[in-house]
Amino acid sequence: MRRYVIIGSGAAGLAAAETIRRKDASGTIILLTGDRHGYYSRPGLAYYLTGEVPEKQLFPYDRNHIRNLNLLWEQSAVVRVHPAEHQLYLEGAKRVDYDRLLIATGATAILPDTPGISLEGVVKLDNMEDARHILRLARRGATAVVVGGGITALELVEGLAARGMKVHYFLRGDRYWSNVLDEEESRLVENRLTHEGVVLHHHTNLIEILGRGGRVSAVQAQEGDRDLRLNCSLVAVAIGIRPRKNLAAQAGLENARGILCNEALQTSHPDIYTAGDVAEVIDPVSGKPVLDSLWGPAVQMGKVAGGNMAGANLIYRKEIPFNVTRIAGLITTIIGQVGSEPAKTPSENDLTGAIMRGDSEIWRQYPDAVVTQTVGGHNRLRLYVRQATLAGALVMGDQQLSGPIQRIVREKLDIRSIHNMLIAPNAPLSDIITQFWRERQPAHAAFGFV
Ligand SMILES: Cc1cc2nc3c(=O)[nH]c(=O)nc-3n(C[C@H](O)[C@H](O)[C@H](O)COP(=O)(O)OP(=O)(O)OC[C@H]3O[C@@H](n4cnc5c(N)ncnc54)[C@H](O)[C@@H]3O)c2cc1C
Repeated sequence: MRRYVIIGSGAAGLAAAETIRRKDASGTIILLTGDRHGYYSRPGLAYYLTGEVPEKQLFPYDRNHIRNLNLLWEQSAVVRVHPAEHQLYLEGAKRVDYDRLLIATGATAILPDTPGISLEGVVKLDNMEDARHILRLARRGATAVVVGGGITALELVEGLAARGMKVHYFLRGDRYWSNVLDEEESRLVENRLTHEGVVLHHHTNLIEILGRGGRVSAVQAQEGDRDLRLNCSLVAVAIGIRPRKNLAAQAGLENARGILCNEALQTSHPDIYTAGDVAEVIDPVSGKPVLDSLWGPAVQMGKVAGGNMAGANLIYRKEIPFNVTRIAGLITTIIGQVGSEPAKTPSENDLTGAIMRGDSEIWRQYPDAVVTQTVGGHNRLRLYVRQATLAGALVMGDQQLSGPIQRIVREKLDIRSIHNMLIAPNAPLSDIITQFWRERQPAHAAFGFV
């Protein structure tokens, strides 16, 4: 009987456990997690912060589902892995033996080394514990400062504003999320935030967090060329994430920014696999290792790693990443290469420009394709058109075309028949895509998601 050990109770860990159990009814599966809340929707934490979703709804599985998987579930942090001995150690020096191991430890928010960063009232948003902590600290009428870019920073801004806080949002550059959104899209988002009462500070660097009695009382910042001091009781930081690869690194497994693995998601030790946010996998298009922080790929990797641990011969082919999310109230689909600035891949030691939660490095790739776009009120459609395929797309606002465009990009459908129409000046992109999609559908299929 094989002993499978999984480290991590996130999207990748659970998907792996389910897959192993389907393939091996009698093997022992031990799931070890440092999170006392177990398995829940991390993307859902944003809606929990705004109060739109109650905590209960973030837990998709009832006790029976977990019980039916027949797992030995232990809430304990793994502190060391010894690959040669097939052993690991938990806090308290307890030893666990394994035949096959999965490291699915996710990623953690990067905190800057700003003076005052460890004061009570400085928060991040990685997990349920963080979300509860933020809600305990959020006070109606009090002032919060949010620092960072990407989706998580915005979720913090919106969550704190929804809880009645006066929010100041510090942006390092001249606009929001400049490596993924274009100028028009950034402005749209920023205008909506301003309308909700959020105060935006461009070209602003946090210099120091000041405290009184161990708690945040103010921040000192540089806004352009002027000094800025703001009284506040909460500072939320979302400047990027770092894969939790320390166990693998200590164990001597090959690693760079994350844990390196082959297409079977096997690490440099054949009995140890990896999956999810901690795994650095090769992008088949660029041939370079890339990081994602996306729920879908984490589940997919968990399935492949779990299957292979149980003796299958599966290959993980990195798909074109996409996310459908809400940015300042606007539902936005981001798929494939949409970068509006040439990408800079951060090194292991310099994570400037590191990815955020709900983000993919692929999106930041600046495609060698013609960009075409239509704008109408709050609705935006931006396409990157190659000769025969769409390299990427961003659909903001009206989502009617989101499903078809996801399919056109991900399945690399041949668009040569509409290429010239798409790149013509002032092309009616929505109509062209709608017509193209309709013609491809069997007569009985409804337009939209299929
Ligand atoms: C606020 C927020 C918003 C997000 N928004 C989106 C979005 O819009 N779209 C999207 O696709 N994705 C989004 N994501 C990202 C998505 O949730 C992650 O990509 C996904 O959860 C990754 O799953 P994982 O299993 O790799 O890691 P995680 O879910 O992070 O799980 C890692 C697990 O490992 C455990 N662990 C770590 N170290 C140890 C140790 N030493 N010992 C034992 N256990 C350990 C942790 O406790 C945890 O259980 C968001 C995430 C957050 C937090």
